[in-house]
Amino acid sequence: MKKMILAILLVITFGAISLSVAQPSNPSKPNIVIIFADDLGYGDLSSYGSPNIRTPNLDKMASEGQKWTNFYAAASVCTPSRAGLLTGRYPIRSGMASDVARVLFPNSKGGLPQQEITIAEQMKTAGYQTAMVGKWHLGHHEQYLPTRHGFDSYYGIPYSNDMDRTPENPQQGNYLDGYWEFANDPIPLEYFNVPLMRNTEIIERPADQNTITRRYTQESIKFIEENRDKPFFLYLAHNLPHIPLFVSDEFEGHSDAGLYGDVVEEIDHGVGQIMDKLTELEIAEQTLVVFTSDNGPWLIFETHGGSAGMLRAGKGMTWEGGMRVPGIFWWPGTVQPGIVTDIGSTMDLFTTASHLAGVEIPDDRIMDGVNLTPVLLGEGNSPRNEMLFYRGATLYAARKGSYKAHYIIEGAYGSFEQRTTLETPLLFNLSEDPGEKYDIADRHPEILAEIEEMVQVHKQNLVKVKDQLAEREDN
Ligand code: MG
Repeated sequence: MKKMILAILLVITFGAISLSVAQPSNPSKPNIVIIFADDLGYGDLSSYGSPNIRTPNLDKMASEGQKWTNFYAAASVCTPSRAGLLTGRYPIRSGMASDVARVLFPNSKGGLPQQEITIAEQMKTAGYQTAMVGKWHLGHHEQYLPTRHGFDSYYGIPYSNDMDRTPENPQQGNYLDGYWEFANDPIPLEYFNVPLMRNTEIIERPADQNTITRRYTQESIKFIEENRDKPFFLYLAHNLPHIPLFVSDEFEGHSDAGLYGDVVEEIDHGVGQIMDKLTELEIAEQTLVVFTSDNGPWLIFETHGGSAGMLRAGKGMTWEGGMRVPGIFWWPGTVQPGIVTDIGSTMDLFTTASHLAGVEIPDDRIMDGVNLTPVLLGEGNSPRNEMLFYRGATLYAARKGSYKAHYIIEGAYGSFEQRTTLETPLLFNLSEDPGEKYDIADRHPEILAEIEEMVQVHKQNLVKVKDQLAEREDN
């Protein structure tokens, strides 16, 4: 009898052990947290080479998880980039990319159309609790707000933090006007009458931007605590480090990279608080956290803009610096740690999140996202082999594998470098030349032809939709 009990105990004990060892981590219905920075460049984190901005929490995320080095935002400016992330489609498909206006403004009439399906709506189908905290920028009229696009709650500034300029603000007209009057002093908060909203109500105006990064983090942590026992989806989109820069007292002078560095270090601190909270609640192993940025650094703002590191150019442009951004995936016990050189995009988060939550991908429309789960688990390569680079509603460049062709080139918004359609496209091998310096078009006409064919297929499948950014109210 004693032997039998011992045998049973042994089976139970070793059974349990073998179960916990042999069982692969279960990627079913994890919590999903997407942290999105605004205008943070490829070179702005210490793990991506910044010599003067310290980001220990994001670096920890990268070393414990995956650091992607060929990860792209869907566009090079805010509104279309956000539409691409949330819908898993190039923003041209939803009417959220335009040649008339770069982004939505406080007097814009449009927004993300109701027929678009967002990640949040996908997650609701799977029974998730959903929250959006931060910068929306997909339409501030009630019918376009996050609460109409699958989010149970919203807390944030509905567009960019440099909008709603008051009459006293010297920064009228061109966005560089008057900005440098404040190069050495904080720009007065009251110069930007931006609203802070909770769900559909304005609760503070102007929003106190000095504390906004901290408050976004606090709001996110509150949501995580309240939903610790159910699957949740949190989309935290910081308004910063987009200009004008604001930082809480605690982080003033914190970095070696001026006010810009201070702002990034405060965001990093918040990321650390979120990771700590997930660990403390013992749900880190059921949570995928993604960190990325909506576009490259706004270089014309010099020390108030970030760095694209080794990449060429920045925000607004279709060179690598405009759209290649940090991409970090953290999910202790499930994400296979490492550096990933495969191509990925923020558009893939829709498909990846849907896959993890067990939700079907819509089959009534063209989707551009792919499922990155095999790469996250260390079981396969990224299905993405291509990336298209739009400026507004016009395709400027295209990447296939290591090669990128430029058909149209243009300088930053507001610069003297006019739009030029090239007779012979430029061609770069990004594996050897990520800075896009050495044109090899004359040596590889066959590669240019292959990319051209891919572009033609894409263009043939485009459906014309209403331009959501074009219409403005008279003012
Ligand atoms: Mg941006």
